[in-house]
Amino acid sequence: MDGTTLAARVEEVRERIERARERAGRTEAVTLVAVTKTHPAQAVRDAIAAGLADVGENRPQELEEKVGEVGRDAVRWHLIGHLQRNKAARALPCFDLLHSLDSLRLAETLSKAAVDQGRTVRVLVQVNTSGEETKGGWGADEAMDAVGRVVALPGLSVEGMMTMAPFTADEAAVRGTFRRARALWERAAAEVQGFRALHLSMGMSNDFEAAVEEGSTLVRVGSVLFGERGR
Ligand SMILES: *Cc1c(COP(=O)(O)O)cnc(C)c1O
Repeated sequence: MDGTTLAARVEEVRERIERARERAGRTEAVTLVAVTKTHPAQAVRDAIAAGLADVGENRPQELEEKVGEVGRDAVRWHLIGHLQRNKAARALPCFDLLHSLDSLRLAETLSKAAVDQGRTVRVLVQVNTSGEETKGGWGADEAMDAVGRVVALPGLSVEGMMTMAPFTADEAAVRGTFRRARALWERAAAEVQGFRALHLSMGMSNDFEAAVEEGSTLVRVGSVLFGERGR
């Protein structure tokens, strides 16, 4: 992208996260997930060399290819995009955390595959708190019921929530989306036994500072680190 090195960009993003955390008076750690989608496996190796330990991919096939090239244990792999049910069993061994559990049928398929494979699948429940119909996940009014059903399934460890803000310069709309997700996350922690409020995944290149101020514990950052993706 520009003349700076990846290591320098990582450092800058980490500093921006730190400052946002300080502004909000937050003490919990915020994990930077480097989103390498559309970039070659070398981007993952570069991320590791730059000190990153968490990598995100949004397509199961691309994830599987990169895991094959770079190694399953080289880094923590996050699947952050929609997972089709017919790809669930195959994708399962390739990731450490699925951010995008977005339907009960997918939860049931993953649960069965996890039991069959003798694994526990770590998942985040994707909530749609932006009100945009194009985005996946459960709406605020259905999320508690969904979390209750998902935690009851064997083989799943339900460790938090994920949301995506609208793509807009309207800061109030972005923050509102994050706040509503945070409120749902806290409510699930208080009300749903078996829900582990370990992670709140929100914030991308455009909005990760606002997300951190609103309580994010996992930011998913791609283009600020690796450059704009081809369209
Ligand atoms: C691509 C993607 C990101 C990263 O987007 P950038 O704007 O490049 O930081 C984050 N989350 C999800 C779910 C994505 O698909």
